[in-house]
Amino acid sequence: MGLKTKAEYIESLREMNPVVYMFGEKITNVVDNPRIRAGIESTASTYEVAELDEFRDLVITHSPLIDEPVNRFCLPPESIEDLVARVKLNRKLGSWVGTCHQRCTGLDCLSTLSIVTYDVDQKHGTSYNKNFVNFLKYMQKNDLTANAGVTDVKGDRSLGPKAQADEDMYVRVVEKRDDGIVVRGAKVHQTGSLSSHEIIVLPTRAMKPEDKDYAVAFAIPSDAPGLIHVVGRSSLDTRELDGCDTGNMRYSKYCPTLIFNDVFVPWDRVFLCGESEFAVDMVIKFSSFHRQSHGGCKAGKIDCMVGTALTLMDYNGTSKAGHHKQKVIDMIHRAETLYGCCLASSYEGNEQPSGTYFIDTVLANASKIHEGKEMAEATRLMIDVCGGFVADLPSDKDFENPEIGGMLKKYLKAKEGIPVENRIKMFRLAEKLAMESADTISDIHGGGSPEAHRVTIFRESDTKSKIKRAKRLAGIED
Ligand SMILES: Cc1cc2nc3c(=O)[nH]c(=O)nc-3n(C[C@H](O)[C@H](O)[C@H](O)COP(=O)(O)OP(=O)(O)OC[C@H]3O[C@@H](n4cnc5c(N)ncnc54)[C@H](O)[C@@H]3O)c2cc1C
Repeated sequence: MGLKTKAEYIESLREMNPVVYMFGEKITNVVDNPRIRAGIESTASTYEVAELDEFRDLVITHSPLIDEPVNRFCLPPESIEDLVARVKLNRKLGSWVGTCHQRCTGLDCLSTLSIVTYDVDQKHGTSYNKNFVNFLKYMQKNDLTANAGVTDVKGDRSLGPKAQADEDMYVRVVEKRDDGIVVRGAKVHQTGSLSSHEIIVLPTRAMKPEDKDYAVAFAIPSDAPGLIHVVGRSSLDTRELDGCDTGNMRYSKYCPTLIFNDVFVPWDRVFLCGESEFAVDMVIKFSSFHRQSHGGCKAGKIDCMVGTALTLMDYNGTSKAGHHKQKVIDMIHRAETLYGCCLASSYEGNEQPSGTYFIDTVLANASKIHEGKEMAEATRLMIDVCGGFVADLPSDKDFENPEIGGMLKKYLKAKEGIPVENRIKMFRLAEKLAMESADTISDIHGGGSPEAHRVTIFRESDTKSKIKRAKRLAGIED
């Protein structure tokens, strides 16, 4: 009980027994599998930094609910300061791991449930908020990590859940029992599901009354009976299995497909069941929180790219090249505008009826659209500055080969005084930053497709007041 150290976090995962498949094989030792472990290490950093002076004040906060110190990733925001701290922490962690630390999604789910379960209870007289608060206490007291089970497989995108040819295309309730519900379906792109103690499931879209069996939210342990994790491919993933050429020496990201093969959920872990009109609130709240989280950590990732570009400029002898400096400036301003937009969405946040704070949705979604385009531009600029070896550097095994290693090191040396090994390491990091598909593609689709961001911006913007302003200037009276 209480805050966990990194070692305690890893041990707590060791005590779990999830059903996992990867690359065609069943994996029994998840924690020591090098591919999955590199992802677990990313999440472990959220525990590790809690003990570092540089991070402690940002990570450790106080929970009025349990009246104890908690990790910020277990605290739904209770003030504007909390909203701001989320962004600052995500930026610092993004630049610490250079990939996705994976723990923000669970907080985004907790924050959403903290708001919406209260609203559902007000309308329907249900007791979802009580269930949620008890679950939150459990998360906080044990310093647990949760992932976000939001994205359904969705089948034919032109049809709603109930209209699908196969009725399991969205996670649904297949049985209601006295002691709980049984759910079936699949959630995809499940960032860090095996780094998580808990899987929190929310609806992925607005639902109609006929979709009520699909309007379901709940939490289950990541090793619940019937739950199957299938770890997806990511470019560069065999590097971790090979034990070399990983680029990022410690951290990585993986996203399993999660199959719910008739999983039992006790009633006290159910947070929505049939109140279909609230599915849309859950989606908007979650995706907006998550888009705000992205702006922080992706700004941190650009910080790593800037550091990589500047170091290779030094190693290559181009530090004084004017166009390289300009390109680094262009990378920095992209990180800062992304960060600034997320900070603004926090400062413009407001208190919800439950007492939890919510960000400004339009600003959070604007930052995500910005991220989708500008991360790609920052990556392009980094590759331009670093050079072609971001693409095709020989393996460390070739550098160690007694027959060719010496020749390779001779020809890959650049500026005098810089060990060739350092130049090789930096190129490898640039490759990882640019080409880790499990991370780079989340810049575009993470937290919803770019069109979803646009739709949310239009729906949530006060367009009426903009029309009024324009008509006033033109001298038109309604
Ligand atoms: C690296 C990564 C990590 C992720 N992590 C998580 C996670 O931890 N948890 C989680 O729940 N999800 C996660 N996601 C999922 C992410 O939210 C989805 O990928 C995103 O919502 C898009 O859904 P999709 O992949 O099914 O694509 P689709 O929804 O099929 O979208 C593909 C394209 O079709 C368009 N489209 C889809 N439906 C329609 C329609 N009806 N009309 C018009 N156009 C349409 C979209 O706008 C888009 O352009 C992650 C995704 C990635 C790539």
